[in-house]
Amino acid sequence: MKRILADIHTHTIASGHAYGTIREMAQAASERKLQVLGISEHAPGIPGTADPFYYRNLGVIPRKLYGVEIIHGCEINVLNGGKLSLDEEYIQMLDYSIVGIHRQCYQDEGIKINTDNLIKCMQHPKVVVVSHPDDDNTPLDYERLVAAAKEYHVALELNNSSIRKKDIRLNCIENYKKMLCLCRELGVPIVVNSDAHDPSQVGDFELAENLLDEIGFDENLVLNTDIEALKLFIENN
Ligand SMILES: [Zn+2]
Ligand SMILES: [Zn+2]
Repeated sequence: MKRILADIHTHTIASGHAYGTIREMAQAASERKLQVLGISEHAPGIPGTADPFYYRNLGVIPRKLYGVEIIHGCEINVLNGGKLSLDEEYIQMLDYSIVGIHRQCYQDEGIKINTDNLIKCMQHPKVVVVSHPDDDNTPLDYERLVAAAKEYHVALELNNSSIRKKDIRLNCIENYKKMLCLCRELGVPIVVNSDAHDPSQVGDFELAENLLDEIGFDENLVLNTDIEALKLFIENN
């Protein structure tokens, strides 16, 4: 498989339960020979995460650290009712947004309504990635999800940390296989991310890459193997 050159779902100490600074994360990305590092702190809804005021001052951070380009995102929670957990004024300060369901601030409503809620959030123009759509504790309809990803120009994530935690994420591997087969059929791009909560995890894609190899996934659909394609995808959203 082509080398993955960007990790755009990572957390720093600002997320409250992650342990590296932006510089430590960037240094780790540099050591892993990544070209782009996306920092995507948790939005309100996750205990101890940054106040949205944090996003106002992102401009002070150099765009290049240790030779790695830094882009600024946020992992916004899907709330019941299909609402995003970050106010619009802050979303506009970001380079990109990720949306994902977290059980700390989401009550399972069954496969149909969970999917409705997620799809509603995917329609926001800043949203470019759905994080870890893999856990049957909040089940999703993969046929509808992949079709919506195509329609709204959103990439679906294969999350390396989810695979590491597969024992607590119900049917994680089976769900990824289902999702990836549908992505291949419909030509929907995916993003492989570490979801690092510590510098030691930045750029660790091993379990995800093994899964892609196992099912013979089309490497051309892995958006973050091509930096130009990834940037175009974010800009044209
Ligand atoms: Zn998450
Ligand atoms: Zn995350």
